[in-house]
Amino acid sequence: FAPWNDPSAKPYIQFDKVTKKFGDFTAVNNLSLTVFEREFFALLGASGCGKSTLLRMLAGFEEPTAGRILLDGQDLRGIPPYKRPVNMMFQSYALFPHMTVEKNIAFGLKQEGMPAADIDKRVAEMLRLVKLEQFAKRKPHQLSGGQRQRVALARSVAKRPKVLLLDEPLGALDKKLREETQFELMDLQQELGLTFVVVTHDQEEAMTMADRIAIMDKGEVMQVATPAEIYEAPTSRFVAHFVGNVNMFEGKVAERAANTTRITGATGAQIVVENAAETANGADIVFAIRPEKIKVSSKKPADAVNALEGEIYDVAYLGDMTVYHIKLDDGQIVRASALNASRVTEDPLTWNDRAWVSFRPDAGVVLTR
Ligand code: ATP
Repeated sequence: FAPWNDPSAKPYIQFDKVTKKFGDFTAVNNLSLTVFEREFFALLGASGCGKSTLLRMLAGFEEPTAGRILLDGQDLRGIPPYKRPVNMMFQSYALFPHMTVEKNIAFGLKQEGMPAADIDKRVAEMLRLVKLEQFAKRKPHQLSGGQRQRVALARSVAKRPKVLLLDEPLGALDKKLREETQFELMDLQQELGLTFVVVTHDQEEAMTMADRIAIMDKGEVMQVATPAEIYEAPTSRFVAHFVGNVNMFEGKVAERAANTTRITGATGAQIVVENAAETANGADIVFAIRPEKIKVSSKKPADAVNALEGEIYDVAYLGDMTVYHIKLDDGQIVRASALNASRVTEDPLTWNDRAWVSFRPDAGVVLTR
């Protein structure tokens, strides 16, 4: 499933140069974005970046100040929310407290005038889908937080919208339940064959669930890509910093060869990197490298192209991995991590030990912005 790599795939949801202003304030700035049918798409960004505004415009609660939003080729301007084939899932506290689970799920169908027999069938189907068959007669306060969340979900998909919008859907759940529910949401989306657009500020949540993620900042999209691409090949410092941990070697291009570029850092330390072909001599660049791509050892690895010496500053054992902070002799702090399953136990580095950090020229990305 990768319609975004298929030039013949038809766009499903299109934000076309969309701007939203509230008075003088620009919440969404000339933003274009395409979502494909059956995609699980995440809008990820810090508070205030405009992600909810984008979702609300798609739902029809706000109209763009400029630009168009198309669904399956149709311009949505002027179409009221209830006439759009789009439904917004609200958090579980929006359930009707005095109604049973089945009545909550049936509510929207009844309003729509669906015949009673069809409603019963649909409600039963939804209860099965969210695995709440035994809880049909309970009221929301007789359910756990996770169960309430599933009722909210069943209610929002009962009308079979084509697109489900979820604004921080799991915000009210604790960490463990959140993780479980993330997988449930993915299963449900697969089973229903719907297009999901989820807003979240939680990078792990976006990485877990989404086919693609749009990283937003100040009303603009910084990068749209699969979780793996976002993590492995961020195109800006902002994205590299926003998702996961990263080390940034700042410097100037000192010397360029066919495939490699030598960078001189501010303090004189030199590293050699690949994929900096576009940059000119003397240009300011940064080599962004993830902690797990950096090796820490007590001796200088014989074959390392890049090896920098320093001292172990912090060691944190996290169960699945160990994280090291190394203070290089030029003062820069480097974060390196090693899976404990593959940890070299005969080389137990600890606080204040002298240590080498080494990495391959192709282990990170060169960024210029
Ligand atoms: P959060 O995660 O905190 O909900 P967000 O990225 O979803 O943040 P939005 O809710 O889209 O952000 O808001 C984007 C910006 O637009 C914010 O600075 C917000 O204050 C502003 N904004 C949103 N709605 C309105 C409104 N009705 N009137 C004025 N300003 C608004």
